[in-house]
Amino acid sequence: MGVIIQDIRVICTAPEGINLVVIKVETNQPGLYGLGCGTFAYRHKMVQALVEDYLKPLLVGQNAENIEQLWQLMHQNAYWRNGPIENNAISGVDMALWDIKGKLANMPCYQLFGGKCREGIPVYRHVDGRDLSEICDNIQRFQEMGITHLRCQCGGYGGGGYGKAPATAPMGAPDGVYLDSRAYIRDTVKLFEGIRDKIGYDIALVHDVHERIAPVEAVRLAKELESFDLFFLEDPVPLEQSEWLRILRQQTSIPIAQGELFNNPAEWRGLIANRLIDFIRVHISQIGGITPARKLQIFAEQFGVRTAWHGPGDMSPIAHAANIHIDLAAQNFGVQEWSGIEPPNFVIQELKGPKGALLDVFHGLPEYKDGYVYANDQPGLGIELDEAEAAKYPCEATVTQWTQTRLRDGSLQTP
Ligand code: MG
Repeated sequence: MGVIIQDIRVICTAPEGINLVVIKVETNQPGLYGLGCGTFAYRHKMVQALVEDYLKPLLVGQNAENIEQLWQLMHQNAYWRNGPIENNAISGVDMALWDIKGKLANMPCYQLFGGKCREGIPVYRHVDGRDLSEICDNIQRFQEMGITHLRCQCGGYGGGGYGKAPATAPMGAPDGVYLDSRAYIRDTVKLFEGIRDKIGYDIALVHDVHERIAPVEAVRLAKELESFDLFFLEDPVPLEQSEWLRILRQQTSIPIAQGELFNNPAEWRGLIANRLIDFIRVHISQIGGITPARKLQIFAEQFGVRTAWHGPGDMSPIAHAANIHIDLAAQNFGVQEWSGIEPPNFVIQELKGPKGALLDVFHGLPEYKDGYVYANDQPGLGIELDEAEAAKYPCEATVTQWTQTRLRDGSLQTP
């Protein structure tokens, strides 16, 4: 008879201005359900419709214990595969099935993945500011909290923030995030020189190019940053330009982390097998959840590539927990991005509740203490959702602005 899926529900909530999509898989066993993250913050209604209209009819009546089989069923059902909306919807169900599996075993998920390789997870936090002294102050604040890895940026990614077209743009140019790659490269090199000068070499530093410059400029930036001993350079080129990583690799030994936009194995397989990256950085819900992420992690281990899963504010605490559970059991774990309980420095919609409302909606978050994040030891992923609280913060579909990144002439550049 087994554990039969009886219902699949989608709960959309935006307690801190970011649209979060939670999938709840309910079973025929009294009180046994799982929660997963299918957050695609900028297309949340699409994920909701896909789960409610297609995955629920496909899965109700199936045995929730057969995670691999159900993952393949979802993955192959629409014939066309690996789209971001589809993958996030699949992820929501997949994580919920692992949550159920852990509850059935009465074990936290990291035990199902082989048990702990380490007790706590070292994380990196994000630091930016207007100038070197503000950035160094922010670095020191994190150091006092025990943080050992920091991602440092001059202003926004690529140096810009959303606003009106600057005077240097052509007449009639649209609003956007205007980039000046030459100024950005100069400022970034100066920033790392200044940080090493003022703070020293004890702290591990990361920088995120966020695909916002031309590939050949990324090669130059990487070479110029090499002497500042970066832990890694993040997303130097767009995924469509990943063959440039071979050229970059030939010219510098700077460690490369790539992949928060990856959708499918064809995008990472060659980069890992040819040792063109050092850290794989996928967004776990974006590739379809825990099931494909575990396969990827084990594949990467064979080639000496470490993990640094994407961990931004625009994903739910359930996804953060999934990252941490995989990290705990991964021999080839590198570092974990940790936005923790803080929303990113932009919001999609006006905050409906107080800052910190995320903690009213989600309970059991992995906890940060003195440089490390710890999972709780509850069965499954260990996160609970207060549905009544979640309902207080409805999601809104709005036009996404921060992705409208533009070159000086107003034409678009990948965000
Ligand atoms: Mg990034």
